[in-house]
Amino acid sequence: MAAALAAAEMGIKNIIVLEKRSRVGGTSAMASGIFGAESPAQKRQAILAPKEELFKRAMAWSHLRANPRIVRAFIDKSGDTVAWLENMGLYFQCLPHSPTDDPRTWHVSKGQGAEIIQALARECARLGVEVRTETTARKLLQDAQGRISGIIAEQDSRTITVLASAVVISSGGFAGDRELLRQYCPDYRAEMRLAGAANTGEGIFMALEAGAASDGLGYLMAAGPLAGGLLRLGPDNLRVGLGFISGEPFSLWVNQEGRRFIDETESFNYYRCINALIRQPGAVAYALLDASMIQSIAELGLSNVPEGYGYGADQRSPLPAGLVEALQTEAEKGILRVSSDWAEIARGIGVEPATLRCTIEEYNAGCDLGYDPVFTKNRRYLRPLRQPPFYALTCGASILNTMGGIKVNEHMEVLDKQDNPIPGLYAAGVDTGGWTGDTYCADLPGTAFGYAVNSGRIAGESVTRYLRSL
Ligand SMILES: Cc1cc2nc3c(=O)[nH]c(=O)nc-3n(C[C@H](O)[C@H](O)[C@H](O)COP(=O)(O)OP(=O)(O)OC[C@H]3O[C@@H](n4cnc5c(N)ncnc54)[C@H](O)[C@@H]3O)c2cc1C
Repeated sequence: MAAALAAAEMGIKNIIVLEKRSRVGGTSAMASGIFGAESPAQKRQAILAPKEELFKRAMAWSHLRANPRIVRAFIDKSGDTVAWLENMGLYFQCLPHSPTDDPRTWHVSKGQGAEIIQALARECARLGVEVRTETTARKLLQDAQGRISGIIAEQDSRTITVLASAVVISSGGFAGDRELLRQYCPDYRAEMRLAGAANTGEGIFMALEAGAASDGLGYLMAAGPLAGGLLRLGPDNLRVGLGFISGEPFSLWVNQEGRRFIDETESFNYYRCINALIRQPGAVAYALLDASMIQSIAELGLSNVPEGYGYGADQRSPLPAGLVEALQTEAEKGILRVSSDWAEIARGIGVEPATLRCTIEEYNAGCDLGYDPVFTKNRRYLRPLRQPPFYALTCGASILNTMGGIKVNEHMEVLDKQDNPIPGLYAAGVDTGGWTGDTYCADLPGTAFGYAVNSGRIAGESVTRYLRSL
């Protein structure tokens, strides 16, 4: 829709958006915030977010695997894109995605991703862009010279042909298809939770079939370790994800062998921490807490929750009453373990009790000393687990998106194997490669959704130039 709008704003007519599902939005509608540099929101909040510095950080994060021209084009446009969306009636605030964000780049509007999608859809309607839902794109059409001439799609079990001088592919990767994940993504584990069931890679594979080169195929935007499940607290039913409790930096994490595997404060950045989790047996971890920790969460609030998640303006607001009781209820459903006996917890999570006891004793001794001899965790978060009852939350990994597939340049032109643009073919969003390395850049939050919107706009502008040149 961002691509369609950019072209429509430049006067292009007869634009059709094909959407497989019954409504638009994809994973973007599930997201919260977009990245922006030097945006109006940052200016309002006096946040210094220089494009040059953020560009360098994004490249460094990717270990130079990302294409610097794509990253530069995206970051350079991102502040203007925030203004573009605000002109559609949205209002953004820069919120911290994690307590360590510096500067804040995560732009969140009141209704989050769903509101951005609604604004884009409204604007499409206003500018005469036709949006056809329940229509699945299947195959690109090319003329004898290889130029794009249309697309074959499926609508109501009928095959339809859409003739078009240019096509922008933006089908959101293939995180909805376990077989493709298994085949292409070395970091995929069968235990991972998935999002975006409709994103099954058609866009990527139709581009490859039309002669596109691939780039970044197999990279995952994944997060963990995170406990699944949601508590509802207080009269207003405040939603508290168990993932935020398991991510408390003073908790103790063990793997299935009952051993620690990482400094738990890495939970501030669970898109990076996933790399430690996938090395553990079954890509599973258990977050262990004691009663004093639960009490301090209840009294002081969660330390790892961004604003904008309904917790109020103060990041560390005390939680409404009932946390202990809610955890007990979840324990009765088997979502987590609560016991005053570590051996019982160990048996419940399938860990050898003697190993778990050893790990906890070693950790507690380190806490007493104020020094973690194994992973040098910040002493501020070294708190012994001694006060029963004890809690164990099972933590897994989630895949949010795949991050690559089609090779593009900074104009979002799809490139063939000789790096030449395929005339009339463009791609945007997570279907494309080059905007990231193999780990989502959690250092600059919002870069996935932000890239999707910005690369869409860039693609729409490039399409316009192409159509005018015909
Ligand atoms: C729960 C969750 C939270 C997230 N939070 C954030 C966040 O706060 N910030 C951030 O930067 N990123 C976040 N992300 C990631 C981000 O949402 C995505 O990376 C980004 O929005 C992807 O945009 P896209 O346009 O490439 O794909 P999508 O938004 O997924 O759009 C792809 C669309 O194509 C449609 N489609 C698929 N196949 C076809 C076909 N063959 N024909 C027609 N249509 C098709 C799909 O139905 C979908 O509507 C989050 C992801 C999830 C799952």
